[in-house]
Amino acid sequence: ERMAGVVIVTGGSRGIGAEICRLAGKAGYSVCVNYQSDREAAQNVAELVEAAGGKAIICGADVAQESDVKSMFRLVDQELGTITALVNNAGIVGKVGKVEELDAERINRMLAVNVTGAFLCVREAVLRMSTAHDGKGGVIVNMSSAAARLGSPGEFIDYAASKGAMDSMTIGMAKELGDQGIRVNAIRPGLIDTEIHASAGAADRVERFKDSVPMKRAGSAEEVAKAALWLMSEDSSYVNGALVDVAGGR
Ligand code: NAP
Repeated sequence: ERMAGVVIVTGGSRGIGAEICRLAGKAGYSVCVNYQSDREAAQNVAELVEAAGGKAIICGADVAQESDVKSMFRLVDQELGTITALVNNAGIVGKVGKVEELDAERINRMLAVNVTGAFLCVREAVLRMSTAHDGKGGVIVNMSSAAARLGSPGEFIDYAASKGAMDSMTIGMAKELGDQGIRVNAIRPGLIDTEIHASAGAADRVERFKDSVPMKRAGSAEEVAKAALWLMSEDSSYVNGALVDVAGGR
């Protein structure tokens, strides 16, 4: 049996995360498919991972809840062994709207999931991977967004700001953990064809914006997942603190 490592993919049940799980299974990883609410979707992804040759478990956990995150990492310790890779992919976007429509509840939830959730998962990963904690090292991939540099005017500046935070986290963590055997990088996907646009109340976003992409098309979840697999692998062994745009030139 090939053993590439043990990875937790947050938000692994749909979209980009699901493709990362599938390709990780194909590469021989043991995969923890995290989800928040859609257990059946997670179960389907776990079956794809196993069909591709990897081992899989599913874990329902809201990454914004500290106790959920701790339980998830303990489950992985028990079921899959020590984690070697973390993909902070879980993320939410609010309904398309203007800045004067934002309220504290929405902004706080956005930051809790997209930023606090990523921090909590990184903490648990570092406690297991860091050579300063007797670990054997590892890799962390943060799913940021082109929104971090575009700002998402007229759509969701709160989301863009959460991804800006993710870029800063990536830079700081890469520097702080670089001598502890851990590489930290981010991917900034552009317009990717997933269900996230429908959750923003704009299912037609891909169609409407694709001509603003220099390559005149949306990207696929698989095209983003391939970059994540590269950052997880030894092929990117000297890449640390990078913000990798997978955005068709947008
Ligand atoms: P998606 O299709 O909406 O899927 C989101 C995934 O995250 C689902 O598996 C969902 O699980 C999970 N999730 C949501 N809230 C969670 C929470 N609190 N705890 C744990 N899991 C949670 O999204 P996507 O388009 O694949 O996006 C994945 C990542 O890429 C996000 O961080 C997003 O911001 C980023 N991104 C996407 C695009 C794009 O155009 N699609 C562009 C740039 C960046 P449930 O279904 O169980 O809730």
